[in-house]
Amino acid sequence: MTSTIQQSSPRLSKRLALLQPSATVGLGNRIAQLRAQGISIISFGQGEPDFPTPAPIKAAAVAAIEANQTRYTPTGGIMDLRRAVAERVTQDTGINYTPNQISVTTGAKEAIFLACQALCDEGEEVIVPAPYWVSYVEQVRLAGAVPIVIETDETTGFKITAEQLQEHLSPRTRGLILNTPSNPTGAVYTEEELAALAGVLRGTPVVVISDEIYDAICYVDYARWLRVAPDFADRTLVINGASKTYAMTGWRIGYVAGPEGIVGPIRSIQSHSTTHPASIAQHAALVAFTPSTELEQTVAGMVQAFHERRDLILAALQEIAGVTCMVPDGAFYVFPNVNSLLNRPLKAGAVCATTGDLAEYLLDQARIGVVPGEAFGAPGYLRLSYAQSNADIAEGMRRFAEAVTG
Ligand code: PMP
Ligand code: GLU
Repeated sequence: MTSTIQQSSPRLSKRLALLQPSATVGLGNRIAQLRAQGISIISFGQGEPDFPTPAPIKAAAVAAIEANQTRYTPTGGIMDLRRAVAERVTQDTGINYTPNQISVTTGAKEAIFLACQALCDEGEEVIVPAPYWVSYVEQVRLAGAVPIVIETDETTGFKITAEQLQEHLSPRTRGLILNTPSNPTGAVYTEEELAALAGVLRGTPVVVISDEIYDAICYVDYARWLRVAPDFADRTLVINGASKTYAMTGWRIGYVAGPEGIVGPIRSIQSHSTTHPASIAQHAALVAFTPSTELEQTVAGMVQAFHERRDLILAALQEIAGVTCMVPDGAFYVFPNVNSLLNRPLKAGAVCATTGDLAEYLLDQARIGVVPGEAFGAPGYLRLSYAQSNADIAEGMRRFAEAVTG
């Protein structure tokens, strides 16, 4: 006889009082459940490339298993990998990074989590431009700090201005999370815009957490924070990873590059938590992060496909009455404004009051997964990831249009 756990309401830590589970991950889980019941869903939800991980990277993982690379590795990653990442970040930024200034993490998500843990004291503030990636605000809160959200909309291309940044600074400001290309809007800051932000931050002690995970997926010239503001190298944490560029979301490889005074303590936190990402994934990432013409071509092919799909989904959205959408310059998301679809009868008389309701309605009625703007601090919008096949984009958009036509 086995017994069952009794229902109860255990007391949880105060830190968890405000915590919202990740809406992007939650939708992914929900879609997996529906599919397991045999229901066909087209997912524009969780943002991940639909391409397989490139063959040389997979081969490296197989070889690592065969070679028994299956034991603990140093915290922060095997030295070859840290060296490869250091060279890559040096190449990207034009600033010389050494392996001691690198830590390889369990996804970029862990890198940002650890950055917040390392930097923030109770009650300190971290500026987060909205629409923001879901996890930023929660990770700031989990570190005991307060996210200071700066709202933006289409009128500034979903980018914060120097004036807005100035207005939101306070003596408690510890950091700014900068994400270009942006998830969820696809907005890409120009050199001039970054220079203006740097102008405001110069003379303050604010640390910049520069999340560059979509740097390779950019349809315009990419302006990199540290190229524009190299004098911030001693207080910038560069965050990046393998998930998006190399279609490696499940391998869980990210990294943080920055001054040793912050990255060293980040490794200490890792030494007490995850220790390091899986050894096999590290050996695969070593191939991903080592320069190779073959891989560059594979990545270029994926980016070209994303570019075409962006145009496909934008054209389809344009056909839907009541939907307007900024043209995103990077990443693989569109972030349409759907306010006009709210509070009016849709198909069969259904009425949605919020974009949260609309996302539910689209999942139930149209069998398409989209993430409501609320999750990104921007009600009135939906986020659709177009890292899907052309056929799924076309069919999903057909279902969307049909479901919202009155
Ligand atoms: N930053 C941004 C902006 C993201 O969209 C994501 C999610 N893919 C991450 C960080 C984390 O990615 P991962 O943990 O898979 O490296
Ligand atoms: N970052 C992707 C997204 O925004 C994957 C899910 C997640 O980690 O949030 O959808």
